This record gives sequence, structure tokens and C-alpha cells, in this order.
Amino acid sequence: MQTIQNFINGEYIDPVKADYLDNVEPGTGKVFSRIPNSTKEDLDRAVEASKAAFKAWSTMSVDKRSRILHKLADLIEANLDDLALMESRDNGKPLWLAKAVDIPRASTNFRFYASAIVNFSSEAQVSEGFMVNYTRRAPIGIVGCISPWNLPLYLFSWKIAPALAMGNCVIAKPSELTPMTAFLLGKLANEAGMPAGVLNILHGEGKGIGQAIVEHEATKAISFTGGTATGKVVGATASQQFKKVSLELGGKNPNIIFADCDLEEAVKTSVKSSFTNQGEICLCGSRILIEDSIYEEFKNRFIEESKKLKVGNPMEASSNMGALVSEGHLEKVDSYVKLAQEEGGTILHGGNRIDKEGYYYEPTVIEGLDKSCRTNQEEIFGPVVTLNKFSSEDEAVEVANSTRYGLSCTIWTSDLKKAHRVSHAVQSGIVWVNCWLLRDLRTPFGGMKDSGIGREGGNEALRFFSEPQNVCIKL
Ligand code: NAD
Repeated sequence: MQTIQNFINGEYIDPVKADYLDNVEPGTGKVFSRIPNSTKEDLDRAVEASKAAFKAWSTMSVDKRSRILHKLADLIEANLDDLALMESRDNGKPLWLAKAVDIPRASTNFRFYASAIVNFSSEAQVSEGFMVNYTRRAPIGIVGCISPWNLPLYLFSWKIAPALAMGNCVIAKPSELTPMTAFLLGKLANEAGMPAGVLNILHGEGKGIGQAIVEHEATKAISFTGGTATGKVVGATASQQFKKVSLELGGKNPNIIFADCDLEEAVKTSVKSSFTNQGEICLCGSRILIEDSIYEEFKNRFIEESKKLKVGNPMEASSNMGALVSEGHLEKVDSYVKLAQEEGGTILHGGNRIDKEGYYYEPTVIEGLDKSCRTNQEEIFGPVVTLNKFSSEDEAVEVANSTRYGLSCTIWTSDLKKAHRVSHAVQSGIVWVNCWLLRDLRTPFGGMKDSGIGREGGNEALRFFSEPQNVCIKL
């Protein structure tokens, strides 16, 4: 069994206190590595290393920084097989998915920001005859990046790539449930020529080392992705020290199916948006709202397609879905399925744990629930969707907006005007029309309401990870 280490000042080192957590492989339910449960003492070391590295990194030419990040992107690509295997064992997702999406996307994140930074320019205003103003965008200093377990390296790199590109030093913490690919990234960063101390990776529990990163006076900005309840704590802690904070939180995303849609495409993609990655994507549509005239047809076809999904060993290419991330998460998902029945819902398909070692759960489809019940209001974050009828556009929008969340929404219609109208009426940071999860990394990414504050992606992230300073010169 492997014992992993923190990555501080360009070196893998043991935690100051010899305290370790077991890391379980969801596909087997067995422990497959031990990770440091880091403490403030480890963080202090990372802070010292970052402080020492900051000046040289932040004043390095943009071209040179960009080359290092491009090299890191190349190395992730070159190590795709090893990284994908670790991602799949750590998270329970199918290996093919980690190979096709998670690891390539992590590489793309570094490549995207390696390019974006050389195109990022400061603004200037000329008031003829009076003054010139220009706005510098300086790196902030040391920033904390904290990420969840569902798309481990993908979301980890989505934060640290813009932070590093902008010239900051980073202290990052992956989820304690999925630490392996972040652990491997340290070695690749060294190979890419990243100077020691620029990127530091600490492992351990959220309420321990995660909270310590947010609290430390040296971290000047916190970029957090995770649950809404945790985001509340992170936001409250960071605001005590007036830190910049970006929060990407939970969702309860509506998937609105109008009668005039391309039904075949809507069914096919809705099955994907419900069950890809075992439904453990913050952008999965968990409430499917269907116009009443096509309700029965959509339902029958959706169930037929869902029945074709094979849940199984993440290492097998034939597995459409793998294991849920942990025993605790599986129990949470199962408890919501039981709750749905208590709330009057009917299970149309699935609803059971699969009887084998590891944390496998059937894709589950439920109907007959009220829009305001807990199953339709709370984030389950697993392979569970509800089918709900609506009879007018206004009703669809009202139901779509009826939760505390506002992350993403998917709309299926062939009426262009309706597509725009509904897009503008739904309270969602991201709207997909007749598609799902198509991503252009230049676009703002994030949610409204309790789904978070701030946006990642494109220049939004570079702005977040920089401090604007206006300089005014009298002419
Ligand atoms: P989580 O909130 O439990 O943990 C997220 C990270 O925060 C982990 O690294 C954890 O160790 C750390 N953490 C926990 N307590 C902390 C604290 N007090 N201070 C600092 N760090 C702390 O979330 P999770 O269970 O890992 O992830 C699932 C959640 O993430 C879901 O709600 C999902 O919707 C959300 N998510 C959102 C997005 C998005 O972009 N909006 C993307 C992916 C996942």
C-alpha cells in the first residue's frame, strides 16, 4: 500500500505530525493508500516556501511562465494512462471516462491558461488633454485552492492553472477522498521546470488543513469548489480577513423538455446528463421537467435507455457507470431514494444498491413528487433523477427557479424565441440549449443564488487571481 506525501517547496515530504488517513478505492471498498492528515505546521512550511518563491515567479516573463505551463500540459498528456488509472481507482469513475475526459481536460486547463496569460492585457483609458489611466493587474501573492472529489484533477487544475499563470504562488488541497492525481502532479510540475515553492500541495481533512488554508493570514485569496454548506463556512472565514473568495457550490439543475424538441436527442442527452460519472457532476440535471403532452413518451424512452446502462467495475470498458465515491455517499444517495418514497414518489427504475463489493448504485428514476418536497429541493449528487410534468412555459420556469440553487439549466426546444426567453428567465449561471456540457473555456463558469459567488473560466479567473491597481497620470 502506498503512503503519499505532501508536496512542499518542490519536494515530497512527510507531514510534521505522523497522522494519516486511509484512502479507500470505491470500486473494491478496500484501502489502497494512506494520505497525510496535514496540520498548520505543514501549512506554515508551504507558506514559507511560497513566500520565498513569489518574487521570482511573479516577475518572471509571461512568456517563460507560459512555457512552463505548456510543458506541464504536455506532461499530463504524456502520463495520461497512469493518471487516468489513479483517477479511476480513487474516485470509482470508469477508467474510459477518466481517459476521455478528466485527464485530457486537466491538460487542456493548463494549456488554455498558458495561452490565455500571453493574451491577457491591462486596460487603459485616455481622456484627451487631461489624463491617462491604466489598470495594472498584479498577482495577489499566495492563494489557496480547494477542490472536491467528483472531477479530481480536472477541477484542481481548473483553479491552479489560472492562479499560476497570473503569477501567484499556490497552496492547494485536493479532496481527501481523491488525493492521488494531485499527488502525482507535483512530480510533473518539477519536470516541467516549475520553480520550487510555486505550487504546494497539502493533503488532509477539510475541517483541518482545508480550514487552516482559508484561515491563514498569508493566503490572500481562496478559490473553493465543493458543497454549499462548506462554502458557507469558507466564505464566512475568508471574509473575516477581507480575502477575495470564489465559491463554486452545489446545484439542483433543471432539465426542461418542451414538446417541440428533438425527442430522440433530448432523451439520449438527458440520460447522459443524469448518469454520467454516476450523476456526480455538479452540472448533472437532476430534475427533469417535461411538457405534459410528451410526458409519457419521454418517460418510456428515458427508462428504456436508462435500463441499458451497465453499472460495474470501473476498469471494464463496458461499464457505463462505476462506483459512487464512498460508503458514506452511497448511504446518503440511498437515504434520498427512501425519502422520495416516503414523500409519495414512485420508483420507475433502479432504487437499489448493487450487491457486490464496492459502492455501486443503480441509475434511479422517480416520478410523482411535488416540486417543493426535499427530494426535489436538495442536492443528492448521485445517479438519481426525478421526472416532473409541466403544462406551460411559465410553469416550467417557475419550477426551474423554485430551489435555492442556480448553477445550470438545460433547455430542449426547437423554437428559437422560446429558447432565448426561457434562458433569460431561469436563474442559472449556465444554460445549455439542445445540448449538455459543451464547454468553451473562455466563457464564465459558475452559479447564482446558493450555487456560489464569482465565476471561473477565461479572463474571469485571471481577474479573480489578480489585484487591479489603477494608475492615473495628469497630462
Ligand atoms: P465538500 O464541500 O465536502 O468538500 C470540498 C473540499 O473542501 C474538499 O477538499 C474538502 O476537504 C474541503 N473542505 C471541507 N470542509 C472545509 C472547510 N471547513 N474549510 C476548507 N475546506 C474544507 O464537497 P465534496 O463533497 O468534496 O464535493 C461535492 C460538492 O461539490 C457538491 O455539492 C457539488 O455540487 C459541488 N461541486 C460544485 C462544482 C461547481 O463548479 N459549482 C463542481 C464540482 C462539485
